[in-house]
Amino acid sequence: MKKKYLIANWKMNKTLDESRDFFKFFLKKALTIPKTQIIFCPPFVGLFDVSNTLSGTEIDVGAQNVYVEESGAFTGEISTKMLKNCGCVWVILGHSERRSIFLEEEKLIRRKLENVLSSGLSPILCIGESIEERKNNYTKTVLHSQLSSALNNLPVDSIENLVIAYEPVWAIGTGMVATPKMILETNNDIKQILTKLNFDNSKIPLIYGGSVNPNNAKDLINIGNVDGFLVGGASLDPDVFYNIYNKF
Ligand code: PEP
Repeated sequence: MKKKYLIANWKMNKTLDESRDFFKFFLKKALTIPKTQIIFCPPFVGLFDVSNTLSGTEIDVGAQNVYVEESGAFTGEISTKMLKNCGCVWVILGHSERRSIFLEEEKLIRRKLENVLSSGLSPILCIGESIEERKNNYTKTVLHSQLSSALNNLPVDSIENLVIAYEPVWAIGTGMVATPKMILETNNDIKQILTKLNFDNSKIPLIYGGSVNPNNAKDLINIGNVDGFLVGGASLDPDVFYNIYNKF
């Protein structure tokens, strides 16, 4: 049985108190589904506290971003060393909000990915097309560009902990979830691109993100080539998130 991933991206939500309240409820729940890795990605200021709360559980902690340098005059930035020191194991890279609001370009995402890989942290690389790109049949071209700029020529053994999240931009936070057919086809395209880049696509977990909720989770997790979810809005409430977990 292949491992599945359920990743909570809290974005810029939850104070320390709110995050403690969340886990007071969430950790009372039975988390017994085999081979299902839960990962929480709180804002930077919550990482240390969440790591402490989750120590002794099977749940991992991830960051939503990281910088490319290890230390120095980079006001406002955070290094991989700091993340590891806070108990962080994973880092989300290339999220569409980083690409569009914070103007992160493919070159920077590549540098961040290389930095994360060399630090021993595990990357969750987000890719996805805009609605205009989908309407104009550019989805595969866009995904190819995002994947090749991030992964081209990386040694195969360096990406053994990589997770790829296919997140159509138009589905993020909109309630407009992609159809199972669309996800199946697009994930097959992503697998083809990975093969072209000389990677064994069967070894790279491919998860879906974009308006996942308890009502659509069952259908989405049953798509043959979906290895889990990256969840934004529906990860903020412990009952709602647990409801998604129970569909695995
Ligand atoms: C996300 O932010 O990665 C995401 C998928 O958000 P939402 O679940 O709210 O669409």
